[in-house]
Amino acid sequence: MTAGILGGGLAGLAVAAHLEHPCEVLEQEERPGGHCLTVVEDGFTWDAGGPHIMFSRNEEMLAYMVGLLGPNVRRGRRANKILFKGRYVKYPFENGLGDLDPEDRFECLYHYLVNDAPPPTNFKEWLYHTFGTGLTEKYLLPYNEKIWKVRAEQIALDWVEGRVPKPPLADVVKAAVGVQTEGYTHQLHFHYPERGGIESLPTALVPRVPRIVTGFTVRHVRRQRDRWVVSDGHRERTFERLVATIPLDVLADVVDGVPAEVRAAVAALRYNSLITVALGVEGEELPDYTAVYIPDPRIRTHRISFPAAFSPHNVPRGRSMVVAEITTNAGDGTWEMADAALVDDVATSLEAIGLLRRSRLCYARVVRSAYGYVVQDSGYRLNVARAKAWFEAQGIVLCGRVAEFEYINMDVCLERGIARAQQLRKELA
Ligand SMILES: Cc1cc2nc3c(=O)[nH]c(=O)nc-3n(C[C@H](O)[C@H](O)[C@H](O)COP(=O)(O)OP(=O)(O)OC[C@H]3O[C@@H](n4cnc5c(N)ncnc54)[C@H](O)[C@@H]3O)c2cc1C
Repeated sequence: MTAGILGGGLAGLAVAAHLEHPCEVLEQEERPGGHCLTVVEDGFTWDAGGPHIMFSRNEEMLAYMVGLLGPNVRRGRRANKILFKGRYVKYPFENGLGDLDPEDRFECLYHYLVNDAPPPTNFKEWLYHTFGTGLTEKYLLPYNEKIWKVRAEQIALDWVEGRVPKPPLADVVKAAVGVQTEGYTHQLHFHYPERGGIESLPTALVPRVPRIVTGFTVRHVRRQRDRWVVSDGHRERTFERLVATIPLDVLADVVDGVPAEVRAAVAALRYNSLITVALGVEGEELPDYTAVYIPDPRIRTHRISFPAAFSPHNVPRGRSMVVAEITTNAGDGTWEMADAALVDDVATSLEAIGLLRRSRLCYARVVRSAYGYVVQDSGYRLNVARAKAWFEAQGIVLCGRVAEFEYINMDVCLERGIARAQQLRKELA
């Protein structure tokens, strides 16, 4: 009697590694790890699902992640910037006011202090209410609308709850007059694999997993008496229990008998895809920032990062690398661009901001991820709850970022994977 785990990303691997019961992970790709994907090529090591750092508010989970890597781990310090009017401003923006010119600094500080925006009902109103006009209009609104690909008033308030911290007043005043302060302190320091990029994390879980079948795309799931039958169109597997870590909309497509109202709820869920464009450059002339946030809507990428800042082993001696992230959706024109056109577009923008010279490019690669960011619009909470309730009532346990359709990081995926395994173990005992 085995349990079937659909999807071999971090969540699926965590469930399987902690189940202590015969189980099998079915993964469509030839490698497990899901979004924790690292490309190692031409001496460069870079995270193709966007730069992934290990941090957590949960000390136990952080220790667990670090422990998984054994000696292959290093500790780093965030050195993020925001590119604003040609300047590299300290991140988060409210802690970087001292880097702005005096007029912008005044507008951000004044409207932060003198702010009568009414209580918010959506994310846009929340920005004005929490940060005032200056901070909101100069950075927060353009950046967020660029990454989310929807207008900020369409994003629900529950997105910000516990996620975007309100900076202490004293910190904003200090920043404006040039006294150094730090924001988002829970991820000021981070851990990262010494070698092998973030894929080293799922790779460290693989030996603890009883069985992984790669190249198995789940296409059909049906109930047969008290068993689940899972098929990829050629092969069939039979399981006593099922855990799904594959995207919720894919699950709704492959499981037999999903009612129309659940299908409608899933169809209403929105997410953004992600394209990463990695560029290797001759010479060591790129900055040693971890990442740079780019709110300017004329530049396609919203964030660039520098793999060498996470581990010096990520980049060969005498070369440097920058990775650009672009959120996109099928049909918006960006997703449809050829790889060469994306490389050209990103390289042209980065040359225009003075970051690199195209004549020095020595490596380029584009990777597309269909599932990047869940968009928490106003209908989101209800739609996810409705879909989850139905699947769980059928006995299919949902776990992880794409299955639970929640903006959760690696630490929470692992934590939930372990918790689901413990719960299931009792039921299977
Ligand atoms: C841009 C970006 C940056 C991030 N940065 C960080 C960070 O710095 N720190 C951090 O902690 N977290 C970060 N995250 C979050 C982290 O990537 C996720 O929380 C985590 O990887 C999700 O794991 P998962 O197993 O839930 O989903 P996934 O990794 O998506 O796994 C799902 C698996 O299901 C498989 N699958 C899909 N369909 C099928 C099918 N039909 N049949 C079989 N298999 C299928 C997929 O191939 C995949 O392997 C970031 C995410 C993004 C998008």
